[in-house]
Amino acid sequence: MKLFNSLTRKIEDFKPYNDNKVMMYTCGPTVYHYAHIGNLRTYIFEDVLEKGLSYLGFDVVRAMNITDVGHLTSDSDTGEDKMEKGAKREGKSVYEIADFYTKAFLDDMASLNIKIPDIIEKASDNIDIYIKMIQKLVDDGYAYFSNGNVYFDISKANNYYQLSGKNPDDLKIGVRDTVDLDLSKKNPADFVLWFTLSKFENQVMKWDSPWGVGYPGWHIECSGISYKIFGEHLDIHCGGVDNIFPHHTNEIAQSEAFLGHKWCNFWCHGAHLNDESGKMSKSNGEFLTISLLKEIGYSPLDYRFFCLNSHYRNSLIFSYESLDIARNALKKLKNKVISLSEEITSLDDSAVKSYSARFKEAFENDINTSLMLTVLYDLLKDSTINDYTKRVIIQDFDSVLSLDLFHCDDEIDENFHKLILEKIQLRQSARENKDYDLADQIRNELLDKGIKLIDSKDGTTYEKV
Ligand code: AMP
Ligand code: ZN
Repeated sequence: MKLFNSLTRKIEDFKPYNDNKVMMYTCGPTVYHYAHIGNLRTYIFEDVLEKGLSYLGFDVVRAMNITDVGHLTSDSDTGEDKMEKGAKREGKSVYEIADFYTKAFLDDMASLNIKIPDIIEKASDNIDIYIKMIQKLVDDGYAYFSNGNVYFDISKANNYYQLSGKNPDDLKIGVRDTVDLDLSKKNPADFVLWFTLSKFENQVMKWDSPWGVGYPGWHIECSGISYKIFGEHLDIHCGGVDNIFPHHTNEIAQSEAFLGHKWCNFWCHGAHLNDESGKMSKSNGEFLTISLLKEIGYSPLDYRFFCLNSHYRNSLIFSYESLDIARNALKKLKNKVISLSEEITSLDDSAVKSYSARFKEAFENDINTSLMLTVLYDLLKDSTINDYTKRVIIQDFDSVLSLDLFHCDDEIDENFHKLILEKIQLRQSARENKDYDLADQIRNELLDKGIKLIDSKDGTTYEKV
C-alpha cells in the first residue's frame, strides 16, 4: 500500500506496527455546530481509507474523539471556547449543545454511508488521562506552569517543525494574537496543556487538577485518547490539512515527550473543500450542510460520489453545477448496475481476480478513488463478462465505495422499469404455481433495490421507497 505521508512529504509503503493490525486515529468534530460538507469530505476520505485497508485484508481498528471541551475559536489557544459560544448562540447548556450536534454529526455520517468508527470517545470523558500525561510532562521538564496555565515547552520537543515544515520565525502567532497569555510563555509557539485562566467567567465544563480548577487544551485530548485506546503506538493518524499545524504538530510533540519514543509513523491529511467564494468555515456561521443538500433534493450519496471523483490530496471547489454533474453520473451508473441480469450463472473467476486486482491497485496508489471508479466503469462496459460475475464484483467494490450501487433511489429509467415489470410477471407465475418462496424472494430482491410491490385486486404495481 503506497500512501502519502505528511511527515516525510513522500509516498511511502504503508506498514503497520503489528503485522496485520492497523491502529487508526481520526480527529473528530468540535460539536458546537453542524458539520459542514467540507468537514464531511475529510470523513469520506478517511472512510475510504479505512474500508480500503480492510479490503486489502488488514484488520483495522479506528478511534475518533468528539471535541466537546477545550477547543477555542483560535487554534492558537486563544479566543472563546467553541462549545460556550454554541451554547450562548442557542440559549442551551453546553451539554445539550454537545449531545445535539454529536447526534447530528453521526446522522450525517450514516447518511453518507461512512462507517461509524469502532471507538468514539468524548473529550470530556477522559480528563484523568490528560492530567496523568500533563503531570508526567511537567515532572520530566517538558511542560511548565506559568500565570495560571500549564504550557508545553516546544524548545524541548524533538524536531517540532518536522510535520508542518514551518520555519520557527513563522511562528509568531502568539505574539500577535495573545498579548496577555504570551507574557507567560517561554517561546511564542508554546501551547496550553491545561487552562485555569479562562477568558469567560462562567466556563461550565471544568475539573479539578493539580494546577487548579480548569480544563484541558485542545491538542492533549487526541494524544490522551489515542494513548488510552492504542497504547504506545499508532499506525495512521488522519485529519484535514488545517490540522497539520498546530494541532497535529502539538500532538506529536506532547505524545513523543510523554512516551519517550516515536509515536505514529503515518500522517494522512485530506485537502479542503472550498466554495467559490473561498474557505468553507463553521465559525463564520455560513456553510453548507448535508441536511441542506437533502432539503433541496440531493442525496447525500451524490455528494459522496462528487468527492470520490477527485483525489483526496487535491483541494476541491464546490458548486451546484458540479454536484449536478455528479448526481446525473451517479444516476446513470446505478441504472446500469441495477439493470444487470439477476440470473445466477457461472462465476468467471479470472474476471473476478483481474478486476479486483485493478481495483486494489488503484486504491494502493495513494487512494486513487477516481481510478477505482474507472475500473468499475470498465467492468460495466466489458462485454466478455457475464452479468452475474459483474454483480459479484460490483458488490465487492461497493464495500469500499459505499454508493449503494444496487439501490435505486433516483428516477427509474426505461430499462429498470422493464426489468421491474418482468419481475412482477415472474412473481405472478410463481404465485400461480404456488411457489411462494420464489414469489417472496422476488419481492424482497426488489425491496433491496428500493422498489416496493403493491398488490391490489387490479394487479401489482410498484413504488419507490
Ligand atoms: P472541526 O470540527 O473544525 O474540528 O473539523 C473536523 C474535521 O474537518 C477536521 O479533520 C478538519 O481538518 C476538517 N476540515 C475543516 N475544514 C475543512 C474543509 N473546508 N474541507 C475539508 N475538511 C475540513
Ligand atoms: Zn485531533
